[in-house]
Amino acid sequence: MSTLLKATGVSKHFGGHAAVSDVDLSVNQGEIHCLIGPNGAGKSTLFKLVVGTHEVSSGQIEFMGKDVTRERPYQRVKQGMSIKMQTPSIFKELPVRQNIHIALQHHARGADLAREEDRLLDLLDLTRDATKLAGVLAHGQQQWLEIGMALALKPVLLLMDEPTAGLSPEETFKTGELIQKLNAEGMTVLVVEHDMAFIRQIAQRVTVLHFGKVFAEGSIADIISDPRVAEIYLGKTEHHEH
Ligand code: ADP
Ligand code: MG
Repeated sequence: MSTLLKATGVSKHFGGHAAVSDVDLSVNQGEIHCLIGPNGAGKSTLFKLVVGTHEVSSGQIEFMGKDVTRERPYQRVKQGMSIKMQTPSIFKELPVRQNIHIALQHHARGADLAREEDRLLDLLDLTRDATKLAGVLAHGQQQWLEIGMALALKPVLLLMDEPTAGLSPEETFKTGELIQKLNAEGMTVLVVEHDMAFIRQIAQRVTVLHFGKVFAEGSIADIISDPRVAEIYLGKTEHHEH
């Protein structure tokens, strides 16, 4: 199995505080990899180091065998990373289809573009709402549209920070199904997530962060059965499960 993303000894300090401390992370091609941990564990900071919106204090990040540690986010996107941010950055005043159209423009023209628009709208279950303004969609649908815009860039690696934040249990489950469908088509996915039901639904490999360090790593089965993890994380959040 080949490694798509590899962070080695990555740290990020804010003033004197180490939000991320000497973290190694490997994401294998074709896997759904979840990054979990208690609030403040450093998940979002590590995510930002990977996508390049934060610069590392030390350490190295390789993507597809190339050192991207000093590259800007747009350069990483060009090489195949695509990011769904925590707050949707869709064009709310434009129709749903137009949003997808704009995102696809760099990759397709004419009939190809129209075909790809239809395919993505269908995948996101937004065909019926294609002519509606994006701003009137339900919160979950806006999140899926945002995922669709990230997919329009034809990424090699799809990165998401808490894609289920604010979603209902039904919307969360549907998001999981969407991610599994993408993965079945070959997409590698790195997801920062808090919702344990969702992690159980989608995760193949899991990295647990705690106080900015890797606390545990393994298959979803390993992590669920690890009492140390339950103590710091699962036990605490069990009552949040839907
Ligand atoms: P998580 O996503 O796991 O909840 P974060 O990565 O957001 O955790 O935060 C990890 C730690 O780093 C927290 O203590 C947080 O307060 C701190 N932190 C995050 N971003 C910044 C920042 N821009 N400036 C200062 N401290 C930050
Ligand atoms: Mg976070």
